[in-house]
Amino acid sequence: MTGLDPDDWDELRGLGHRMLDDMFDHLAGLRDGPVWRKLPDDFRAGLRDQPLPTAPTAPQALYERFRDQVAPYATGNTHPGFMGWVHGGGTAIGMLAEMLAGGLNANCGGRDHAPVEIERAVIGWAAEIMGFPADSSGLLVTGSSMANLIAVITASRATPNGASLRQQGVGGRRLVGYAAETAHGCVARAFDLAGLGTDSLRIIPADPAHRMDIAALDAAIAADRRAGFVPFIVIGTAGTVDTGATDDLDAIAAIAARDGLWFHVDGAFGALAMLSDRLRPQLRGLSRADSLAFDFHKWAQVPYDAGCILVREPGRQAAAFAQSLAYLSRADRGLAANAPWFCDLGPDLSRGFRALKVWMTLGTYGTDRLGRMVESCCAAARHLAARVDAEPMLERLAPVALNIVCFRVRTGDADLDRLNGELVKDLHESGIAAPSTTVVGGMLAIRAAIVNHRTTPRDTDRMIDALLGFAAARLTDIRLADVRPTDTDPPGKNQ
Ligand SMILES: *Cc1c(COP(=O)(O)O)cnc(C)c1O
Repeated sequence: MTGLDPDDWDELRGLGHRMLDDMFDHLAGLRDGPVWRKLPDDFRAGLRDQPLPTAPTAPQALYERFRDQVAPYATGNTHPGFMGWVHGGGTAIGMLAEMLAGGLNANCGGRDHAPVEIERAVIGWAAEIMGFPADSSGLLVTGSSMANLIAVITASRATPNGASLRQQGVGGRRLVGYAAETAHGCVARAFDLAGLGTDSLRIIPADPAHRMDIAALDAAIAADRRAGFVPFIVIGTAGTVDTGATDDLDAIAAIAARDGLWFHVDGAFGALAMLSDRLRPQLRGLSRADSLAFDFHKWAQVPYDAGCILVREPGRQAAAFAQSLAYLSRADRGLAANAPWFCDLGPDLSRGFRALKVWMTLGTYGTDRLGRMVESCCAAARHLAARVDAEPMLERLAPVALNIVCFRVRTGDADLDRLNGELVKDLHESGIAAPSTTVVGGMLAIRAAIVNHRTTPRDTDRMIDALLGFAAARLTDIRLADVRPTDTDPPGKNQ
């Protein structure tokens, strides 16, 4: 035996089959376990403080450690009770694709091999789903944070004299961009990382429907021009992370076209609503964008990580990222042929075969079925909203545009922000459901984002039943505390 291959292939094969069987059992039995449980202190200490393994350990022992101490204490986003943040649930076929990609260990930065063609196919499918031209350029990346950064950099370099930015830096160019106050934090971060500075991102207020105030956008652009700034990009959101609202993308597209600004859409999860005939009209204008960021790992259920950037005008992305014109003239034949290469469309040179899990997921289900899954998530959210509206103890804090419901427990006599924050922790520790929190209109909201294909109205009902139980218990405790002489915190249900 040479190198690192096993001495005994059959032994490793046996372990591999066991891993696969165990993982199938895990996925098939998700509902029977808790959505989340706290990692016990001794496991945590043992996992954190491991000596560097200078000598070999049997894969069997490592696997058992994974099975007993890692797998049961994962995030929980595969579980139907997971409604926190905006996480996809993954699929078994996606898991298998990860294994196949790992086996090939392809580097998709470039060169002439089939995995690159799979990524090209996936980018073409993405363009078709989103109503972009067939020759749009694009790249699979870690997530929308990276995709938004690539868009901001590409747009800045598409400005007049923007190409010289690559050698000279931003300097005193006074480039400014626009996004609503409801935009994701990674948009400001993109301005930071791109060297433009977060002050160069003008934050536009949102209207009562949590959408960008278009008149305010108009006014901000005009004011910046008068003051000698150079407006270059406006960023609309399809599916804001707090409430699921979508900016009026058509109106933003019109302003961008009129004023010669780059129009970028952050559609991290919401853009996948394009898969549904019923939901697509809400995203009108998205297909007019110069660039679009979205995640296959959210609503398309592809395992982490799988983000995507699409850029309408071919050549713009390479003009921003290719390190020399060599990208147009790779070798004419042999392994070093097959230009242009993906490494010229973003910051990464070495890139894994992310495309395989996207290709297998889209292929296995087909876009029609994925569109129906997206609709089912929205239906579960509407069911949850109706339940919230029907419960006297609950109040809804935002309209439900897609799949996100913001609400809170309402009582006359408590610090509601604190109470609701504690109730969400109660839910997490119960293992029944995992919503998250956000702030809507200055109030702490319980936020349920239904992004997981496994989540049904039964799961949202279980969450509400548990929440009302925890609320009743805590309010009893608060009333008892009121008549006690001391002013201590009420004991929590799970403390
Ligand atoms: C999740 C999200 C992001 C960030 O995407 P990552 O894939 O986590 O990097 C950006 N914008 C919105 C609206 C999101 O929901």
